[in-house]
Amino acid sequence: MTDVPASPASNFIRSTVDADLASGTYAQRRWVGRPTIATAHRAGSPDPAAIRTRFPPEPNGYLHIGHAKSICLNFGLARDYGGRCHLRFDDTNPEKEEQEYVDSIIEAVHWLGFRWADEQEDNLYFASDYFDHFYAMAEWLVEAGHAYVDSQNAEEMRANRGTLTEPGRDSRFRDRAPAENLRLLREMGDGQHAEGTQILRAKIDMASPNMNLRDPALYRIRFAAHHRTGEKWCLYPMYDYAHPIEDALENITHSLCTLEFQDHRPLYDWLLERLAEGGFFDHPLPQQIEFARLNLSYTITSKRKLQELVQGGHVAGWDDPRMTTIVGLRRRGYTPASIRLFCERIGVAKADSWVDMGTLEQALRDDLDPQAARATAVLDPLRLVITNFPADASEPCTAPVHPHLPERGTRSFPFTRELWIERSDFEESPPKGFFRLFPGNQVRLRHGFVVRCTGCEKDAQGNVIAVHAEYFPDSKSGTPGANQYKVKGNLHWLSARDALLAEVRLYGRLFSEEQPGAGGAEFLAAVNPDSLRVIRAYVESGLAAAQPEERFQFERHGYFVADRVDSKPGAPVFNLAVSLRDSWGGGGK
Ligand code: ATP
Ligand code: MG
Repeated sequence: MTDVPASPASNFIRSTVDADLASGTYAQRRWVGRPTIATAHRAGSPDPAAIRTRFPPEPNGYLHIGHAKSICLNFGLARDYGGRCHLRFDDTNPEKEEQEYVDSIIEAVHWLGFRWADEQEDNLYFASDYFDHFYAMAEWLVEAGHAYVDSQNAEEMRANRGTLTEPGRDSRFRDRAPAENLRLLREMGDGQHAEGTQILRAKIDMASPNMNLRDPALYRIRFAAHHRTGEKWCLYPMYDYAHPIEDALENITHSLCTLEFQDHRPLYDWLLERLAEGGFFDHPLPQQIEFARLNLSYTITSKRKLQELVQGGHVAGWDDPRMTTIVGLRRRGYTPASIRLFCERIGVAKADSWVDMGTLEQALRDDLDPQAARATAVLDPLRLVITNFPADASEPCTAPVHPHLPERGTRSFPFTRELWIERSDFEESPPKGFFRLFPGNQVRLRHGFVVRCTGCEKDAQGNVIAVHAEYFPDSKSGTPGANQYKVKGNLHWLSARDALLAEVRLYGRLFSEEQPGAGGAEFLAAVNPDSLRVIRAYVESGLAAAQPEERFQFERHGYFVADRVDSKPGAPVFNLAVSLRDSWGGGGK
């Protein structure tokens, strides 16, 4: 079933999957339709999924662009190889997890375009549903002599752990008999011991050069309510214990994680091998494969730090359009396709590196350019008076909705005596190479007429408050002979009588440093104080009908989206999603 489309770029993970499928490594697995242990799976049918991957977020925050990389990778592999990808909430930690985060994660993965349910299967799981399994396996490990209850205090434990260069020392409780360990474990589960007084540890090797194998903790006591299991448990499994078991219960074949878990892989394998000996799992066991996490310049990809931005009031919330959370990117105007395109372009590698923010922004431009409706907006308005155009007259003008998609039709707007143009499109004394409006120069007002500048009006301080020009009645775009006018400037404009005043939010990058917090610096110190400018701008009156999340190219400016939260019928609010060109190359604005 190697149903691989030609499009996705190959990478070392795909090569591994290709090799596993070619050699039939996972062909014998059986699946009973839900996560469970081997004896139950054996009663099922051959697993219909050629491979199983999973995306396992901890519901302790909102997903960010780094998670999108993992989502696209895991769901993309399952899609391309006739497999299944599970959405699994890794909710084994009682204190930090909340339903709000569960809901937002479900919505984010869905919005990115991925599904975990079809007619046959619904692969949405919660690790907290496996608590009974985790515990049963812990008892078996104790009975088999692979785990023990350690009663050292935290200080002794630390002291005996050793360092990277020195081996650790065995705990004086390491040789407790299995029966005593079992009694203690059960007492721990019954709430008879205080937090931090006892801990269940694997019995591996205190002298291992890999610190993760120095009798790692498996279970700890926590008197904490869990968002799904309430007060039922006061024993909670450690991540390194729970994660491989979750994978094995779910028949995961390729368990993809970020590089920092490479040193944990021997523990992952040790644990699953022991549990296979105990009859809980059959071979082949899931394999952990590490890939480089995404680091994106001018932003941060850490839930904890994103949370600090929210809690410290540096942004308006998790969905602030400057945040590189999925909800933030969505509100900013990013499309699911643009994020998938970005993830495809950055690929998957085995070595950590930084990706430039410009790559994400370019993916959005590339996705929007062929589809976004064009519109006119004057962001910094200056009045232009057409002195030879009658005050009460109006000349209808039209422009295509999209220059390459004639089937999308046209939009229309009137040409009148008083217009709005961009302030930066006029110079009283133009610098060399300036081709826009200045006294004596001719320009075309896009989709309208050619005009010749005759002067300007100023206020008492000498600020230009209006520009004067005369139009050429026979120069209207699209009419015979209009081409005889040769001009170098082509300006956008709006009728002052017709334009709609709208709130426009001009977003810049949230950080002014490429690697916020690099070298141990405080990342909050790198927050860009000028990352948001709110203006009132004039837009084409047709935009009154813009729907929340509708995206436009404001010609000569960039791509904007009608804000999905604050836009009201007839009163849209627009967010700058990305400018037309990369204006950041020179070290920021
Ligand atoms: P954070 O440090 O932001 O809390 P995390 O790794 O703790 O991230 P999880 O909820 O545990 O967050 O992550 C779910 C999955 O997303 C994991 O498989 C993890 O490897 C992956 N992931 C998280 N951050 C990144 C990233 N920057 N690049 C690629 N994958 C990531
Ligand atoms: Mg985590």
